[in-house]
Amino acid sequence: DVKQVGCVGVCNQVPMLEIHKDGEEPAFYTKIKANEVSEIIKNHFRSENWMSRFKNRFYNYAENLTFSDVPISSSRYNANEKDTPIAEFLKGQVNIATEYRGEIKPSDFEEYKSKNGFEAFVKCLKELSPDEIIAQIEESGLKGRGGAGFPSFIKWNLVKNAQADKKYIICNGDEGDPGAFMDRMLLESYPFRVIEGILIAAYAVGASEGRLYIRAEYPLAVTRIKEGLEICKKEGLIGENILGSDFSFDLKVFEGAGAFVCGEETALIASIEGKRGIPELRPPYPAEKGLWDKPTLINNTETLSLVPFIIRNGAESFKEIGTENSKGTKVFALAGKINRGGLIEVPMGITIRQIVEEIGGGIANGKKFKAVQIGGPSGGCIPAEMADTTIDFDSLKEVGAMMGSGGLIVLDESDCMVDIAHYFLSFTQEESCGRCTFCRIGTRRMLEILEKIKSGKGKLSDLDLLEQLAINTQKGSICGLGKTAPNPVLSTLKYFRNEYEAHIKGEC
Ligand code: SF4
Repeated sequence: DVKQVGCVGVCNQVPMLEIHKDGEEPAFYTKIKANEVSEIIKNHFRSENWMSRFKNRFYNYAENLTFSDVPISSSRYNANEKDTPIAEFLKGQVNIATEYRGEIKPSDFEEYKSKNGFEAFVKCLKELSPDEIIAQIEESGLKGRGGAGFPSFIKWNLVKNAQADKKYIICNGDEGDPGAFMDRMLLESYPFRVIEGILIAAYAVGASEGRLYIRAEYPLAVTRIKEGLEICKKEGLIGENILGSDFSFDLKVFEGAGAFVCGEETALIASIEGKRGIPELRPPYPAEKGLWDKPTLINNTETLSLVPFIIRNGAESFKEIGTENSKGTKVFALAGKINRGGLIEVPMGITIRQIVEEIGGGIANGKKFKAVQIGGPSGGCIPAEMADTTIDFDSLKEVGAMMGSGGLIVLDESDCMVDIAHYFLSFTQEESCGRCTFCRIGTRRMLEILEKIKSGKGKLSDLDLLEQLAINTQKGSICGLGKTAPNPVLSTLKYFRNEYEAHIKGEC
């Protein structure tokens, strides 16, 4: 059989080919080229008959396959070999949201089912009451993975206890941060797991309808989820009286049009309702008055992907991973000046240094590690000297950063921190919806100051003004975008003020 699997996370080694043959250790080939495939297969199977079957089944590449001897430049590793780039990258990771990574064909329902798929949902329908499910979520310590780290069970309880003739659930897959691709990977690679998480949450809170809000720039994610929804409808997992129960539920995809601010809950709701995506003042919270004014549960894609594991294995199995106040794992998009970038799922409590040095293999091209920008444009820069900071909601906040949705960009000695702050602020400035004065004008003025400093025309007093504007923007903005937009500026001012001063003094 030839099958395409979901994202393995080892982006630094793709394209990858894994060969399983009876009686042999599985072999991995990394960074393979299309014209090497036939030779690699021949080396393992040496049967022309098998080769022609392979040619017929290996979709796009079939046309290009040749049977001539090709010198193979890709690297081969055996599954149990230690110290290979793949083994080093995967070591230290814990796969919960990405359970069975690299093993499942994303849209293969039977395969998902054979790996405990929908076991948790069936358990909920047949054995657990909504209160018991929410108690499990509370016991597990699950907090929202979308950025703020709000305890999930509180939201679930609010929606469950709200009185209304109809309730909704929304899976927030509107991932727009530069450098982030966690939701994309989960939606593309684990469509059934995301759907299962939504079904469990919908049953627990009493929602009868749901929306999967996915940014339109993720066409494969949209396709895979739509395929998954069709299959689930045919299998009786979505629709009227699911599996003979009195739970009825419908789920649809909504494609976002590319505004970063629509990741904010109230803007996202407005966008689904066909209005301009602008955040609203809260309260009322969506849990009380959300989509079309009905109680609505909004959870991030990663949060919902963790739910089936918790229900299937019990809250304890999740809770035993992580720190006192941050349980379980976090998925990060590891990128930047690193030897081994990719998609990683790590236990809470791991240090930044372990991620950079052990998983990421250290800084590329022999350069010196300078900092990480964690949490995307809402996050902050943490200097290399503080690399022993642990990854958990509280520690990151203490050092002026935040988990955000999970972007982790590694910077080296050649990166200018003023440039980094400018880059992220330009992004949020452009994405501001314009509703709040400080977010609309404050970030613009901050950007102008940064531009002045970068061009060598700044004054030392500009730094105080920059800081004051940043603090006021945090205070005077109504949504997370404006409240967190100054973070990259404030954290670089705090840890790399000397670089701002060097620009002003004309030293760089
Ligand atoms: Fe819009 Fe910014 Fe105000 Fe949020 S903080 S509502 S993005 S202006």
